[in-house]
Amino acid sequence: MTALPPSDKALVPFVSVAHMMKLIHHIGVEPMLCGLADAIEADFHRWELFDKTPRVGSHSEQGVIELMPTSDGDVYGFKYVNGHPDNTKGGLQTVTAFGLLADVATGYPVLLSEMTILTALRTAATSAMVARVLAPKGSKTMAMIGNGAQSEFQSLAMKAIVGVTHVRLYDVDPAATEKCAANLAGQGLEVTKCTSAEDAVMGADIITTCTADKQYATILTDNMVGSGVHINAIGGDCPGKTELAPAIVARSTVFVEYPEQTRIEGEIQQMPEDHPVTEFWQVLTGAAKGRTDAKQITLFDSVGFAIEDFSALRYVRDQIAATGLFHPLDLLADPDDPRDLFGMLQRAQT
Ligand code: NAD
Repeated sequence: MTALPPSDKALVPFVSVAHMMKLIHHIGVEPMLCGLADAIEADFHRWELFDKTPRVGSHSEQGVIELMPTSDGDVYGFKYVNGHPDNTKGGLQTVTAFGLLADVATGYPVLLSEMTILTALRTAATSAMVARVLAPKGSKTMAMIGNGAQSEFQSLAMKAIVGVTHVRLYDVDPAATEKCAANLAGQGLEVTKCTSAEDAVMGADIITTCTADKQYATILTDNMVGSGVHINAIGGDCPGKTELAPAIVARSTVFVEYPEQTRIEGEIQQMPEDHPVTEFWQVLTGAAKGRTDAKQITLFDSVGFAIEDFSALRYVRDQIAATGLFHPLDLLADPDDPRDLFGMLQRAQT
């Protein structure tokens, strides 16, 4: 399939799961993680340009369904994403997503894409983009706590972007650790399967927590975190859902995406409302400091922000133009006379 001719403007390129997987294999997982990290970093440099709002969440006992919109003035994007920690028990995923880009000038959608796989890639790319700046220089070992759907992507992004060579895996479910270790075999990482979180953090320069539990969980206790480490806290991303003991947050320098959203959803929801945080985009532009000393604990209180999805969708849009990995989707009604929608409907009957 080739790029859409101009006359087919009403047909919206749709990237299915099958096409996304082909695209990732065409580019390569690690090159795509690097490309996404660069795309996200470029948009973080343009942070002030974007329309920003905390995501809109619809909470239930089982989980949350969220919409994540943003715009840079030329292009608008949003992601639909859910988070249902008990889904895996019924054979369903915790997180699924799809997203859309639209042309601000006309309001017409220009891309619809699967984003379950793309979210795993963009979350890992963001984690590694941040760790590249904040983690101790020469970081080689990462503890990977929570070995579910995100974990291999997190591990490979830290390898490709930060230079991590060794991952220490732990999950309450040993089957998840076995799965992660098997998937990472042959990927150029030394993999150690650990039997506890305490074991996993031994010798780690970076600690990634990526568990799913709809409660204030304590994946890391204060005594498990030594000076100088970088914590990449991914799983606490919803009101009432955290992973770290508050004492760890108190001892750390906290870096966030968008404070208005992180104060509702991140680890810092456990802290007073004015707990100091640094916006990571300001570290990139030089307006704020990153790591200032070797003993400092840096904490990326990740919740996932709309601009990261926007960057990822734009990256995909650029890639599909050359590869043709999309279906033209008949999503928009397009009457010859734009005011004759009813006439179009009538003609369709005959
Ligand atoms: P998943 O359900 O596939 O995996 C989660 C794993 O955590 C499971 O294997 C489970 O056994 C394990 N786990 C649960 N409690 C644990 C504990 N106490 N100790 C160790 N392991 C434990 O979920 P996923 O898709 O990998 O997502 C993981 C988390 O990351 C979710 O909470 C999700 O909401 C979050 N997430 C955040 C972002 C972001 O941008 N910050 C993006 C995507 C997902």
